[in-house]
Parts: sequence; structure tokens; C-alpha cells
Amino acid sequence: MTMVLGIKGDAEPYHCGVCSRQASYLGYHTGGSTPIMWLCEDQACVTFAKRIYSMSYTKLNYIEERAIELASDQTIEPILQTILTHLWDNDHKSLDEITGDHFLKLTDEIKQSKTLNKVFGTFLLSFSNALKTEVGSLDPPF
Ligand SMILES: [Zn+2]
Repeated sequence: MTMVLGIKGDAEPYHCGVCSRQASYLGYHTGGSTPIMWLCEDQACVTFAKRIYSMSYTKLNYIEERAIELASDQTIEPILQTILTHLWDNDHKSLDEITGDHFLKLTDEIKQSKTLNKVFGTFLLSFSNALKTEVGSLDPPF
């Protein structure tokens, strides 16, 4: 499942290999022609670069799964609240009355919600912070 954690070999600095946020000019590699893992400027990411660079996909997957769980715990309630508020404010008091076309229209409306975009931003920051916390912890499997 490894998505971006530990990603190596990008020609340009797209994603930080530790926290997955936007990378900076900083990178880590082990010398010679080994691929570069780009990093953001966060000191934690610079500190954890060596650990992540050499970590197995099994461990990277474990970290990402834990980070998704932690970030989801912090954002599931506001996501659900945003959706229910949108439905309620648009006079959809019962899910029985929502047809297929209605569902698609509501989906488009909710996608444009500034509140929902803010919640997704919170999710990404929470995910990033959880990655750093998980990498920095000495919990198994480390
Ligand atoms: Zn980072």
C-alpha cells in the first residue's frame, strides 16, 4: 500500500519521502547513482530521512496504515458533519428521497464545499504529522 512514504527516484522534488508534503530542495541518497528521496524542510523529516530510506516496504506500509488510522480518527466526524449539514440545509431530511441523479448533484455540491476542503486539508496535515510521529516512535516493528 505504500503510497508516497519513502518514495525515491523522482527527478524533481515533488513529495517529501517522510511526511509526503511538498518537497523542498533537500534530498537524501546513499551516494553514487542511488536514487534521491526528496524531503521538505521540516527538521523531523531531515532527521528521519536515513531511517525511511532504508526501511522495507512492509514497515513503510505499516507506518502509512497507522497514520491513515490516526488522521481518520481526527477527520471522520467533521467530514460526516459537513455532509449531513449540506443535506439538511438543502432540505434532504431523509436519505430515502435521494435519487441517483440527486446523489450526483449533491456529490458535486459537497466537493465544492470550502468546509470539506478545509477538513481534507486537516486530514493531510494530520496524516503528515502522524507519519512523523510513527517514524519517530520506537514501537514495533522497529
Ligand atoms: Zn517532510
